[in-house]
Amino acid sequence: MLIVHKYGGTSLGNTERIKAVARRIKSSYDQGNRIVVVVSARAGITNELIARAKAVNPNPDRREMDMLLSIGEQETIALTAMALHALGVPAVSRTGAQAGIRTDLKHTHARIVDIDGGDILQQLEANRVVIVAGFQGVNEGGHTTTLGRGGSDLSAIAIAAVLEADLCQIYTDVDGIYTADPRIVPNARKIDRISHEEILELASCGAQVLQSRSVELAQKYKVPFEVKSSFNDNPGTIVQTEMNSLEAALVSGITIDKNQAKITVSALPDKPGSAARVFQSLSEADIVVDMIVQNIGREGLANLTFTVNRGNVDRAKEVVQQALQDLGGGHVAKTGDVAKLSVVGLGMRSHAGVAGTLFECLAKAEVNIQMISTSEIKIEVAIDVVQAEEALCKLHDAFGLGESTTTTS
Ligand code: ADP
Ligand code: ASP
Ligand code: MG
Repeated sequence: MLIVHKYGGTSLGNTERIKAVARRIKSSYDQGNRIVVVVSARAGITNELIARAKAVNPNPDRREMDMLLSIGEQETIALTAMALHALGVPAVSRTGAQAGIRTDLKHTHARIVDIDGGDILQQLEANRVVIVAGFQGVNEGGHTTTLGRGGSDLSAIAIAAVLEADLCQIYTDVDGIYTADPRIVPNARKIDRISHEEILELASCGAQVLQSRSVELAQKYKVPFEVKSSFNDNPGTIVQTEMNSLEAALVSGITIDKNQAKITVSALPDKPGSAARVFQSLSEADIVVDMIVQNIGREGLANLTFTVNRGNVDRAKEVVQQALQDLGGGHVAKTGDVAKLSVVGLGMRSHAGVAGTLFECLAKAEVNIQMISTSEIKIEVAIDVVQAEEALCKLHDAFGLGESTTTTS
């Protein structure tokens, strides 16, 4: 079998862990598998490099940032290869560029445009394990780029797709994907199987266990993958293309994202093109907008509220103010921090009642709902950041997701 392994930062956090990863790779190699390994930087290194950059310049150039950030993964490819050599396993390391991971020009959040694999297939033919640096690629000018935080997941899934690997295993520091972040909800339960669709919603709503773009790619290219622990041999979570409706859980998981901010625009001219102008200018500035609510217009004016990542709030405000000036009306009335709570489940398609349970539970907990948005398999609400973790735990219980209770299906 051709298997892609991906190891995250905590799994490679120190010498002992790197050696343990090498032993795990050896055991799969000894069973006759061809293996490509994608690694992250050691835990904390990427954050440390960002802090160092900001210490010398609060607004560092993005190309130089990529030069710096890519060294984290360069350290771990070499150390992992060396640890394998020490066990007598032939292995070679490859940077993103050497593995032919070509990206667009957007430094620090580049998108992969294609992967030619470099000499990966020849190396596998020669019975070598190939260790590829995650999170990085190269653009058409030959400059190193990085793929956005958590991007090693994306590298692993993309390589698995291109090589048509039989299996992609994402090794991390938890046993798999849980019904909620186990660091916040102690009785969260590990999910055995989940669909690409659900995990995509969970990942894009703040379950930081997988980078959401990696799941998008897995869904597009139908790459089945598994998320499991690098610290034990417990079965992980299998993420698969389709699930039949009997298997579909009403609610499979709940996430919170405490890093959102809300922007309210008042007195926006209530005419065709107003919203388009506002959101177009945000998208031109590369600012992702999440939830949007517009009230019914009165006397030709409307109020518009939307959420963005907290780090983008100042820039978003500037961009919107400019757009409003061009439109000749409206002003940014208010901005404020919010948390987004998302309840996800494939079973919502065919069962009513999730919204009712959610609103009732939040009402009992005296949590005020500031915004609501729904899709076929998800309900999201914006709430006060201070109440977010407690609300998450209460909802987790209300939907019977915990370890000790039976699951809804
Ligand atoms: P890695 O370094 O292996 O990429 P990450 O730190 O990126 O690991 O992701 C793993 C972490 O994601 C876990 O330690 C866990 O706290 C967090 N997490 C958040 N939501 C979930 C969830 N629903 N299921 C599992 N882990 C989650
Ligand atoms: N090292 C990068 C980060 O911390 C990529 C990754 O870990 O996936 O974001
Ligand atoms: Mg990660």
